[in-house]
Amino acid sequence: MKGVPERLAALLWPRRCPFCDRVLPKDAFMGCICRECLSEIKRLTHEPPRLPDTEHEFYAVSGAASAFYYSDGVRHAILRCKEHGHPWYAQEFADMMAVMVFGAEASGYMSGTPVYHAPGGLLPYTVIVPVPPRRRGGGRMPYLLARRLSRILGIPLSCPLHTTREMKPQKGLDLAGRLQNTKDAYACRSGTDLSGARVLLVDDIITTGSTVSACALALLQGGAVSVFAVSVAAKEELPPEKRVPKQQQPQEKQSK
Ligand SMILES: [Zn+2]
Repeated sequence: MKGVPERLAALLWPRRCPFCDRVLPKDAFMGCICRECLSEIKRLTHEPPRLPDTEHEFYAVSGAASAFYYSDGVRHAILRCKEHGHPWYAQEFADMMAVMVFGAEASGYMSGTPVYHAPGGLLPYTVIVPVPPRRRGGGRMPYLLARRLSRILGIPLSCPLHTTREMKPQKGLDLAGRLQNTKDAYACRSGTDLSGARVLLVDDIITTGSTVSACALALLQGGAVSVFAVSVAAKEELPPEKRVPKQQQPQEKQSK
């Protein structure tokens, strides 16, 4: 049973749909998506979650998965969470990742928050690690996602990675630029022992895969035996069946 502070917080700051900001009803899909947003969000679901190697330039990771395509409503919601002062939505995104990528199940509510059950004993990871902020005071979304995933999946959280130098923002760089920008830019803190660890590495968006790959290399150098990357969304070309047909897009008003 939750304490009074948690129940008061749930009353004052009820959970909201990260895609439209509406207060979530009790029957919200997976506990975190409102009915109005459901069809749009289902359209942007990455099925299956596993990311194809053909769309990304991975190295050092054993594989990667995302819950969504980074497009339209998903893109807007992530930007709101990351850059426009709504960091608390990281909890709802982590809940969606737990359900859509790892098969956790929402089973009941406690003080307005859904309770999820991890898929018992099936996950092969021993530790969850977030991608560190690229600069001082940079985004905490990967950490917030990793912390919530750690609770739901019952896998310990660890933050061994740090950046070794200043990086340019990845946004706007081409593939070669991104690979160069992240090369040797991450390392494990001294004294880190990841011997034998099977790491689940968490980021918010996977674009080329250069950031998660550079982090994975540092984790392997720190003793990890494998690194699998997971993100809320992946930047890929939308498959044709997931694009919005032209006639469904809002039409301009006819002149009288
Ligand atoms: Zn909504």
